[in-house]
Amino acid sequence: MRLGAIEGGGTKFIAGIGDENGTIIERVSFPTTTPKETMQKCVDYFKDKNIEAIGFGCFGPIDPDKSSQTYGYVTTTPKPGWANYNVIGDLKKAFPQIPIGFDTDVNGACLGEVYFGSAKGLDSAVYFTIGTGIGGGAYVEGQLLHGLLHPEMGHMKLIVRKDDHYKGKCPYHATCFEGLAAGPAIEERWGISAKELDINHPAWDLEAYYIGQALANVVLILSPKKIILGGGVMHQSHLFPMIQKYMNQFLEGYIQKKELTDSDYIVWPKLGDNAGLCGSLALAKQALEDK
Ligand code: ADP
Ligand code: ZN
Repeated sequence: MRLGAIEGGGTKFIAGIGDENGTIIERVSFPTTTPKETMQKCVDYFKDKNIEAIGFGCFGPIDPDKSSQTYGYVTTTPKPGWANYNVIGDLKKAFPQIPIGFDTDVNGACLGEVYFGSAKGLDSAVYFTIGTGIGGGAYVEGQLLHGLLHPEMGHMKLIVRKDDHYKGKCPYHATCFEGLAAGPAIEERWGISAKELDINHPAWDLEAYYIGQALANVVLILSPKKIILGGGVMHQSHLFPMIQKYMNQFLEGYIQKKELTDSDYIVWPKLGDNAGLCGSLALAKQALEDK
């Protein structure tokens, strides 16, 4: 089975072909320019590729509600030209017979881990990417969670640690999760790129404090059976045990589940840096199943 996948990011788009087992066969990448031009590139790429479905995991906020008039739109992004743009319009026009799965990039990545990766067989998981921004997707009781819009867990407010005097980077909330802990916040706070920070730098303990705090909130609200952390910053694998320590510290022993201390409760995506594109493949597979 040949499935099309689009990982739509704010700086670049990746389009690819894969199969129902999550194997990527080929891919291309191009910079995110105007929505018209970028979506046309996707259409041109999929022409003659003989695909049975398309999955599109997109940066947000988006409208993923099929009953809404603006289903398939990017909604309120500050990215020039993209706000209130119907990103699936040209795809639908070019491929009227093909089911199209559309969701946030992180909901897609979460579904990818459920279908093909570390959450295989589970009916509940949460996925975060911690990179240029922070986004979270959730799979709850066997379904991706949307609700009113879709989760925006990267913007939950966090308690700022007393010794951290950084003002926060989010233009909306200053010291939300993303404003305190995404790559650009680390860089601005310490004056050095996250990539270049020494493993013993105090930045990492503070980073784990914020991620652990956010995960404690997520455990209390969504009660996931597994938490997957991807994105550039999570290449720092030494963070994982520190994050788990802080998560449990914030939970204060209130939730008694052995899983919370298991070493495979908080994990790097099994699909690695392919998590985004494989996630879109999962959205394509789901769209085909739903047809
Ligand atoms: P994006 O979020 O734009 O899709 P990434 O997930 O690669 O891209 O995130 C980029 C951010 O991650 C940058 O802020 C960068 O400093 C940080 N980053 C990338 N690689 C590493 C690394 N090995 N260690 C720590 N931070 C990293
Ligand atoms: Zn915010």
